Amino acid sequence: MIHLYKGKGNCCGCTACMNICPYNSITMKKDEEGFLYPVIDLNTCTQCGACVKVCAFHKKEYEEKIPKDQEVFALRHTDRKVREKSSSGGAFTVISDHILNQGGAVYGAVFNESFEVIHSKAWDRERRNKMRGSKYVQSDLGNIFKEIKSELERGKPVLFTGTPCQNGGLKSYLGREYPNLILCDTACHGVPSPKIWADYKAYLEEKHQDKIKEINFRNKDSGWQNSSLKVVFGKSEYKKDMQQDPYYILFFSHLIIRPSCHQCVYASYHRVTDITLADFWGIENSSKTFSDDTGVSLVLVNTRKGKELIGNIGKDSDMIKSSHSAFYQPIFEIPSKMSPKRQLFWSEYFAKGNKAFRKYGKLSTLQWIIKRIIVPVLKKTGLYNLAVKVFFK
Ligand SMILES: Cc1cc2nc3c(=O)[nH]c(=O)nc-3n(C[C@H](O)[C@H](O)[C@H](O)COP(=O)(O)OP(=O)(O)OC[C@H]3O[C@@H](n4cnc5c(N)ncnc54)[C@H](O)[C@@H]3O)c2cc1C
Repeated sequence: MIHLYKGKGNCCGCTACMNICPYNSITMKKDEEGFLYPVIDLNTCTQCGACVKVCAFHKKEYEEKIPKDQEVFALRHTDRKVREKSSSGGAFTVISDHILNQGGAVYGAVFNESFEVIHSKAWDRERRNKMRGSKYVQSDLGNIFKEIKSELERGKPVLFTGTPCQNGGLKSYLGREYPNLILCDTACHGVPSPKIWADYKAYLEEKHQDKIKEINFRNKDSGWQNSSLKVVFGKSEYKKDMQQDPYYILFFSHLIIRPSCHQCVYASYHRVTDITLADFWGIENSSKTFSDDTGVSLVLVNTRKGKELIGNIGKDSDMIKSSHSAFYQPIFEIPSKMSPKRQLFWSEYFAKGNKAFRKYGKLSTLQWIIKRIIVPVLKKTGLYNLAVKVFFK
């Protein structure tokens, strides 16, 4: 009998197994936390093993050293309005513009009409703009890998953007190099539960007695360093600092991210993609004047294809060459640790719903002191990167 994964920590939900199955015997089903897992229909499965072979998550091995030829850049889109709408400095817009200019297709995460997060395709700027901005929820890939394969076979330039594990899954599903494909991942310290997100949206709609019209996870009204979650309703809006919003607190406390994120095999400088994007925290170590607090992207260029693209992105970006020592992203070295309270949170959540949400979605006194007093002081004095390094090592 086929076993796709040993435990939930071993499946990232990338859909490679579902897409590769020649008998369509695999479907993705939600578990009680709202995460999608593959389920095999034993009536049609022939035990061919294609699904086990394609699984990139249990095959990939961790590599520690920084790759010798990986290049590091700080990048910001020249248009302030684009930076304000992007999570970091708008590198995604610059890169995707290049693909759209060649008549190519861009794949990325968008909100659907119910503000669930799904992957979709864009062949023009209007649709691409909906991919802008991080949505901190695991996105549903649907059958998109098959669609991407047929675009590639037709010779179209394709840019796929997503989490490292989604990129790893796509690469393994495709099974060969396509010169017309650019893979682009973001740094990712974990994907939160779509169930918690759905419940939180319902809670906010009930509180505001109105339907949600717009959501921005990285609203920069108070600057990039102090981003907030902004939810717009018909007649009102909800805006809370990332350090205070209960959904963010649960996310950053590692209570609601997918179990496999705590065993992430992609938490390494060795990327499976051509280009990796992140926030350039610590940009002031490279240049005192580059950031105006509307966001700066950290761009890791991992392959020859990535280098070619970055060499051709043109006039819409300001870019400076930087180095690995100028930033610190723990997630390039070690997966996010699971909270010791994760199980407790979920059992209380199933039993008491919103009560558990409110109880765990608050900072403890120690967390409050660290986030509201110590971190701002470390950032001001330029010691933040060093402190993170010491703390995480
Ligand atoms: C779940 C998650 C965790 C992250 N964790 C970190 C982190 O620990 N450190 C860090 O520096 N950066 C992290 N990022 C990346 C960061 O938030 C920015 O997305 C990245 O720097 C790109 O910013 P940008 O300004 O270039 O483009 P933006 O315009 O902000 O581009 C957004 C890009 O992110 C993709 N995207 C958005 N939501 C999702 C999603 N749910 N799933 C897959 N892809 C998505 C879009 O397809 C698009 O390519 C995370 C992103 C996500 C989605």
